[in-house]
Amino acid sequence: MSFSVVLLAGGVGGAKMAEGLLHSVCEQHLTIIGNISDDQEIHGLWVSPDIDTLTYTLTDRIDTKKGWGLKDESNRTLDALQTLGADTWMYLGDQDFATHIYRTNLRKQGKRPTEIAADIAKKFGLKVPLLLPTDDIVQTKLNTDLGWLDFQSYFVRHQCTPEIKEIVFAGADSAKATPEALSAIAEADLIVFAPSNPIVSIGAILAIQEIRQAIVASRAYKVAVSPIIAGKTVKGPADKMLRALDISCDSLGVAQCYQGLIDLLIIDRQDAELAHSIHALAIDTYLTNTLMDNRADKVRLAEELITVALRNAMQKKLTETLAETTAAAVPSDQQSLDAVRASI
Ligand code: GDP
Repeated sequence: MSFSVVLLAGGVGGAKMAEGLLHSVCEQHLTIIGNISDDQEIHGLWVSPDIDTLTYTLTDRIDTKKGWGLKDESNRTLDALQTLGADTWMYLGDQDFATHIYRTNLRKQGKRPTEIAADIAKKFGLKVPLLLPTDDIVQTKLNTDLGWLDFQSYFVRHQCTPEIKEIVFAGADSAKATPEALSAIAEADLIVFAPSNPIVSIGAILAIQEIRQAIVASRAYKVAVSPIIAGKTVKGPADKMLRALDISCDSLGVAQCYQGLIDLLIIDRQDAELAHSIHALAIDTYLTNTLMDNRADKVRLAEELITVALRNAMQKKLTETLAETTAAAVPSDQQSLDAVRASI
């Protein structure tokens, strides 16, 4: 059966969902579109943290304790840079440096960033397509009480402590979506928004207008998993960002970020009382345990997601077909049945 799933993913939360989907029923059918707006030049090298987290996680090379970076790392290069007086607040391990050197060289040679990401992923042994939303540079910038900061300066150097006043995605307005991402979205049966930061991971992908429009136009069933459980992030600054933007820091706030884009929001059982308010935004809900501590959790959540999405997509199609056939000149019972059968 041809069944195609597209996952929009940030780093840590995105990679957990990607791992679940990769090791579940979707292994043969998965395409990932990763976030590039955390990318930044460091020591003259182009660093792409979310794309690397996805590649390293899905090829079992990730440092599982940290959730990012390569396992079995050493830091001799960073130590040497420090001796030379360089700013070394951004941890980059010795093997990880090789990825950034390789990527930067290929970019300087004029190779498309999408092809570079695919090349690196393939060399690490990734079997599913990992696409970029754009080959242009889009970068998250935060206006804070310390002034404008790049994402990594806010996140790593200042440990998410500056007060956020405004978040922008520099370059997003003029960024062109990649043809690979657009065609994956157009052909998708199911689009999944990972439990990633809704502002600076998924929100940054959606800030590329061609991507947003393609998702709206897609006939796929669209599901998001909330990254907020009981009003708290599992990791990272999504809570601070939601509050700074006057969005409630819970799954209702996440639903508001995705209103008009998704059919279903998967929320944690602890957030059952929010379901009613989420339904008012024309978004269905499904309650389960959404915390993923190990591979079994990730696969279980992915399989539940696929099952509920397939069931709901079928119901949605039946309802739409029945409404269309009822609105048309009164058909015979047999004609109605044939129309429904033909459409599913
Ligand atoms: P980043 O780019 O590395 O910050 O990663 P993402 O944007 O992909 O993921 C960050 C988000 O993942 C945070 O808001 C977390 O709350 C969420 N997250 C991490 N682990 C889990 C989990 O096990 N379950 C859920 N529901 N969310 C998670």
